[in-house]
Amino acid sequence: MIIVQSQKKCKKLICIGLVTLAVFLPFWTYLSSQSAMATCIFCDIISGKSPTKIEFETDDYVIFKDIKPASDHHYLAVPKKHIESLVALTKDDIEIVNTLENGMRKFLVTKGIENKEALLGFHVPPFITVKHLHLHGIAPRSNMSFLMRFIFKPHSAWFKLVDEAKEYLQNKL
Ligand SMILES: [Zn+2]
Ligand SMILES: [Zn+2]
Repeated sequence: MIIVQSQKKCKKLICIGLVTLAVFLPFWTYLSSQSAMATCIFCDIISGKSPTKIEFETDDYVIFKDIKPASDHHYLAVPKKHIESLVALTKDDIEIVNTLENGMRKFLVTKGIENKEALLGFHVPPFITVKHLHLHGIAPRSNMSFLMRFIFKPHSAWFKLVDEAKEYLQNKL
């Protein structure tokens, strides 16, 4: 009698398990496919899905305005390839940083900005708002507010000047 009862219980449990799995599996598949397709706003700008105006473009990167300018001029140089952040780069990727830097410097000159007035650098995770590598180009430095000077503070734990970023990659194992 006891054996029969426990067998029944067991069948019931298997039944509940299968039903749960049947309901949960499609839901889980759906959720995971959603997160895999999760949009990146910078990828949307690059592909033209977003209305943000691209100021300059090459095969490798784009330059557009930062939506929250820290001074009179504030641009972002963004590689077309989705790279999460500086941390995702290695020593061999310094060329990517060089390309973004040279592109940004030349672009700022076309906007009449002298490079010594400009602040060029990257935020460091977890202090990044968009998880797609972007080089900030801000000018003039003298017009930045106290708060912006803090947010884009060279030699801090959260912001690296472009040279610091290269040094960081150079020293990475
Ligand atoms: Zn992206
Ligand atoms: Zn940033």
